[in-house]
Amino acid sequence: MAKQCPRCWEKVSPEDEVCPHCGYDFARRKVQTAEAEAETEQKKSVFPTPRRKDEGERTNAVYKIVLIALFAWAVLSIAGGAYNLYLGNWIQGAGFLGSGILSAVAAMMFFRREHCMLCAILILISGAATLNIPLLVISLGVSYLALCCKQYFTS
Ligand SMILES: [Zn+2]
Repeated sequence: MAKQCPRCWEKVSPEDEVCPHCGYDFARRKVQTAEAEAETEQKKSVFPTPRRKDEGERTNAVYKIVLIALFAWAVLSIAGGAYNLYLGNWIQGAGFLGSGILSAVAAMMFFRREHCMLCAILILISGAATLNIPLLVISLGVSYLALCCKQYFTS
């Protein structure tokens, strides 16, 4: 089947590397097209995809940090609360024990990725239950980070 020269529109033989009518170089055109395609392909793969991946990894890191912080706080706070109760510091003991239990519930919600809003509120109450201003401020930060992970939640 004959092909057509893209410059002079004359019919040429498929074996022809160069157009016999106007000297148009088919081979070079092909190489250029392949190069242009490779370049476009490279641009497509280099620019938008990794940036999206980076953002995903960063949010994923926040998710892991919040999850670890909640579980760690639950364990520490329940242990600390029990110890305070053992020493007879009833108010502080009950506060930390309550905080630890709330944190454990929030950690489970966070782990199961359910009820993001409720989870954030529980983290705040957990901080308030310690009756300690710096811990309340920290819980405010963790609560905010939990809300930042809303995209991972099913509800
Ligand atoms: Zn031609």
